[in-house]
Amino acid sequence: MSLIHCIYSSAAADTNLSKEALDEILQQSRTNNAKAGITGMLLYEGGTFFQVLEGEESIVESIYEKIEKDPRHERITKLIVEPIAERAFGEWSMGYPRVSKKDLLDIDGLNDFFSKGNSFVELEEGRAKLLLKAFHKGKWRV
Ligand code: FAD
Repeated sequence: MSLIHCIYSSAAADTNLSKEALDEILQQSRTNNAKAGITGMLLYEGGTFFQVLEGEESIVESIYEKIEKDPRHERITKLIVEPIAERAFGEWSMGYPRVSKKDLLDIDGLNDFFSKGNSFVELEEGRAKLLLKAFHKGKWRV
């Protein structure tokens, strides 16, 4: 089995995305991912998403293809796709750590980036890795 992670960012199509709409995405993700053996994490802040999908390569690719076509978001940018030795979010069919702008400003190496008004859609690979690292081991895990 070849394990990969696929990390992307996007912007919500509805700039006033309701809690109910977000819950629907999470519920749908958790149901599908649990069946498919996909784990990961979704962040939503300032109208933008950052998602980590991990699992068997072909399954991650097919879920990503579905997600990419979803009209609930746009400006979808694939940031990282690479093999991984083990899952970082193995216990989460789709974790949803609630983050505020302040939490993002507290992340080492990203404070400058977020303080300039940037959001997840402006991330590139290097900063995406820093964000991933913060959520892999950070305080949001508990
Ligand atoms: P159904 O639930 O039957 O949906 C059928 C179709 O309707 C799909 O094309 C879907 O895009 C669309 N749809 C469903 N609900 C709505 C709605 N409220 N508004 C507009 N269109 C709608 N899916 C996963 O399986 N795993 C994930 O990790 C995952 N993460 C996501 C992250 C984001 C930011 C978004 C926006 C979506 C995510 N999804 C995820 C949902 C994914 O895009 C598909 O909607 C879902 O996988 C389709 O599930 P289904 O095949 O069971 O179809």
